[in-house]
Amino acid sequence: MKLQSLEEQRAALDASEVSSVELVELALTRAEGTGTDLGAIVGLRAEAALAAAAGSDARRRAGEIRSPLEGAPVVLKDNMVQKGEPTTCASRILESFVSPYDGAMAEKLEAAGAIILGRANMDEFAMGSTTENSIFGPARNPWDTSRTTGGSSGGSAVAVSAGITGFALGSDTGGSIRQPASFCGVVGMKPSYGRVSRWGLVAFASSLDQIGPFTHSAREAAWVLEAIAGHDARDSTSLPEPAPALESALTGDVKGLRIGLPREYFVDEGADPGVVEAVRGAVSELESAGAKVVEVALPHTPYVVSTYYLVATAEASSNLARFDGVRYGRRAENVQDLDEMYKRSRSEGFGREVKRRILLGTYVLSAGYFDAYYRKAQQVRTLVRGDFDRAFEACDVIIGPTYPEVAFPIGARMDDPVSLYLGDIYTVSANLAGLPGISVPCGQHQGMPVGMQVLGRPLDEATLLRVADAFQRRTDHHEHRPPGSA
Ligand code: GLN
Repeated sequence: MKLQSLEEQRAALDASEVSSVELVELALTRAEGTGTDLGAIVGLRAEAALAAAAGSDARRRAGEIRSPLEGAPVVLKDNMVQKGEPTTCASRILESFVSPYDGAMAEKLEAAGAIILGRANMDEFAMGSTTENSIFGPARNPWDTSRTTGGSSGGSAVAVSAGITGFALGSDTGGSIRQPASFCGVVGMKPSYGRVSRWGLVAFASSLDQIGPFTHSAREAAWVLEAIAGHDARDSTSLPEPAPALESALTGDVKGLRIGLPREYFVDEGADPGVVEAVRGAVSELESAGAKVVEVALPHTPYVVSTYYLVATAEASSNLARFDGVRYGRRAENVQDLDEMYKRSRSEGFGREVKRRILLGTYVLSAGYFDAYYRKAQQVRTLVRGDFDRAFEACDVIIGPTYPEVAFPIGARMDDPVSLYLGDIYTVSANLAGLPGISVPCGQHQGMPVGMQVLGRPLDEATLLRVADAFQRRTDHHEHRPPGSA
């Protein structure tokens, strides 16, 4: 029984060929097997999930179907809370934390009838690009288990890529949904800033963080986003707009649509030529479907990585101040006084990358350096947004590679954080400017998946999904499954 994609699961449930309980049993078996071998799944709630599935089956028998997600299993990145369940952020400091409340995603998924199976591996506090900065050990790419999954939402990407669940949620602060999606050959979407409530998402960088779906297809991403989007008064950055109708926007029609190719994303010393070739091939496919290609300029591209790492670390140093051993998680033992308790709790609780970022962020916010770094970064951020505003006068979507290369070997970059930071060049702008972005599988290079990134105007998820769906109707990259698939 395959039933790996959300669409297949939905069809089988609708046709009464399978029950939600059976789907959850299957997903649990896969999660315990492949999911554990690949380091993707870090916690399961088998009993609760089976009970919820029985509830879904009963609803279905009574003719009540809450959404296209009804009865389908899902995993959450381990930074979204659910009542009575652990949330670790893959950090020692939260190793024993159990949430006293449901976050917005747990509520929304339940309201949509989906079944939360458990938690997916990630980089500690979502800081990283490889899912190696994790107390659970690295996640492994199902296409080649010696390679990284990307990150920080690597476990969620693997869950979908390896066919453990049909969809998963991740969070994206600078690419953490789109980049692992590209590495693992699945669709990953970062909605516009404010589109999805972050109530119950452990904050990394609050002006950048956004939750979004992993799926195989753009159509499935539309279903998930319709279910999780919408205003939430408990998140002060949540947009007042109602959740958009997205599936109805998937017309398959891209005639006359203007695709902007930023010249800065296609320079010679940029992405791996094999990656560029796959992305160019995808653009040609859209052209033959009637889209028009125009060149656009994003002149501040050379500054986006430094801008992102100033803003993100500054906000992280502030957000992570709350983990002090008093209110949350781990507290050091046998301490003499309060200062020592703070120091040791944090020193023992945080990993290397998180400490590096807290130090960097504290530095850029400190009195003597604030103007030179933090304020300057905010000014450049405004310029980056201006680049996109101008580019979107000439085009409807912007297309380029999601990441400059395909998945690299586990361990290869651990001693060189700057090389990882530089790899975020194509993804961080969407976060800095608040734009929606999606990564869609568009080919292979060195036997590994390549992702094409489509960026849209703020709040225009509908056009992104329409383009991604039109591409998938004409191609079959999203139907390829890795050898390690369940
Ligand atoms: N790779 C980026 C970083 O390490 C993105 C992280 C994210 O989006 N959470 O900051």
